[in-house]
Parts: sequence; structure tokens; C-alpha cells
Amino acid sequence: MNRFEISRSTKAYLLLSYVLWPALFGCGLLGAYCAFESEHPLLWFNAVYLSIAAGIALFEYLMPYERDWLAPDGEIVNDIAHTLLTKGAVQVAAAAGVTFPILVAMVAQPHVGNDDGLWPVNWPLPLQVALALVIAELGLYAAHRYAHERLILWRFHALHHSVERLRVFNTGRFHVVDSIVKAALSQVPLYLLGAPLPVFLWVGAVTAFIGLLTHCNIEMRTGFLDRIFSTPRLHRWHHSRDAKVGNTNYCENVVLWDQLLGTYHNPPYPSSTDIGIKGEIAKSFWTQLTQPFTKEGLRQILGRHKKNNAPAAGERVDV
Ligand SMILES: [Zn+2]
Ligand SMILES: [Zn+2]
Repeated sequence: MNRFEISRSTKAYLLLSYVLWPALFGCGLLGAYCAFESEHPLLWFNAVYLSIAAGIALFEYLMPYERDWLAPDGEIVNDIAHTLLTKGAVQVAAAAGVTFPILVAMVAQPHVGNDDGLWPVNWPLPLQVALALVIAELGLYAAHRYAHERLILWRFHALHHSVERLRVFNTGRFHVVDSIVKAALSQVPLYLLGAPLPVFLWVGAVTAFIGLLTHCNIEMRTGFLDRIFSTPRLHRWHHSRDAKVGNTNYCENVVLWDQLLGTYHNPPYPSSTDIGIKGEIAKSFWTQLTQPFTKEGLRQILGRHKKNNAPAAGERVDV
């Protein structure tokens, strides 16, 4: 127990364990609303995002789910570097995705108006965002499940699962290829349906705050929220070292598709803290980026380099 920790036997601890998830998520959404109404939406949104991340980091010390995970693991710099690279690359791809259809529309279809799109632009914005979250989630689900079941994507996604402790710092630890595939599959359907920019902004905001919360190492009682949203409890199961348990809970925001497609996993006992993969991920940031592209790197990722080519026990991917 560190000297900042709130005693687990107090009423304050119990109350906070119930309200922290909805409170932090609500503060994030309120901050996003203020940012989007301001003259510098991107600047203020990033300020809100960093504030919520800092708040989560603080509560990780006050109310840790697993005390051992508070110790540094030497990966924080790599985690932040992957987060920045991934965010930058996805934003460039998204900007290109926004710009390209506008160019096509201006050059090739000057008379086509927004009214011809399938998107229900007359619905209240919260309903449009809810619809967009469900549609985007199907793309996220497909990309994530495919990444666990096929070597061609697992080689990139393994970086995210190589952590042995979940902290707010490793929320964005994704190989940039992994992130681009997910962004493409989740956002392209919305572009094709003609969703307007505010819908994309809000889907991005919800994804950002739920993402920060899924990796937090805070004791949270999420109860019925586990049935609707991807919570830290569900995501800890997903990171289990046991592949049978880990190949579940693929959804990133709302867990509808996991429930409908039979991959929802939430047994009535505390989620495991034995997380990680059988294989090995390189130590340096640059080698982590190049590792999936080489034969030897792939053997390391699969944990085969030490065992005379024998398949790693419990490996997630059948090849
Ligand atoms: Zn995964
Ligand atoms: Zn994760």
C-alpha cells in the first residue's frame, strides 16, 4: 500500500469505486462539448484529454486495482511514443479521408448535395452519434477480432498485448499499422453513409475517453455499465495471458457486437491480473515498429525463437 492510497474499508472508497467511471467519462464529454464550441476546438480537446488522463493517473495511485502494476515497467516512453505516432498517422489518414471525397465531389459531382446521402441528418445529434458508434463499432470489432485470429494482423496487434500491467499510459500503445486498419474499417462506412463532421468529432471523443478508461488501473465497480460499454473490467479479461479468455471482448466503445456475436466474457468474479503474451516484443521503439516485418521478428512475436520452431503453448493464432 502506497502512502497516498485511500483505505479500502472507508465509505469514500466504496462511493468512488461506483462513481469514478461515469464521472470521468461525463467530465470528458462535457469538456469535449466546451472544446467543440470554442474557437480552437482541437487545442481545447487535447487539453481536456490530457486533463482526464492526468486525473486517471492520480486515481491509479489513490485506488489501484492491482498495486504491483504501479511500479515502472520501463515501457512508458515507448508507450507514449506509440500513442503520439498512432494519433498523428490516424489524423493524417482521417484528414485525407475527409479531403478526398470533398475533392471528388467538387470535381466530378458538382451538383450532388448532402440531401442525397443515406445519413439521417435530421435526427438529434446525440442519436446520430449513438448510431455512428454502433456502425463504427462493427468495423472496430471486425478489425480487432481478425487481429486476434489471423497472423497477418496479430503480428502488429501483439505489441498492444505485450504489456504485463494495464495503466493509463499504455492505452495508446498500438502499432501504427494496427491503428490505421482499425480507423479505416470503423470510419470509412461513416464516410460512405455521409455522416457529417460533428458526428465524427463526437465518435472520436467517446472513443478517446472510453479508451483511456479501459486501461486504467483503478478499482471501479461498473455493474450494469459492463453490459453497455467497454469497461476496465471487460478489457482486463481481453488482455488475459490465457488465449481462450483473451479472445473475447473485442468491442472498444459499446459492447453490442460482442453480445450479439457470442464473444462477450464477463464471469462473476474479479478479472485476472495475469496478462501478456507468450512471445517477445523488442525493447526499443524503432525495433518494435519494424519487428512485424521480418521473419526473425515474427518468430520472436510468436515465441518460437527459443523452442526450435515449436508452436508456443496457448498461442492465439493458428498458422
Ligand atoms: Zn486485442
Ligand atoms: Zn488494451
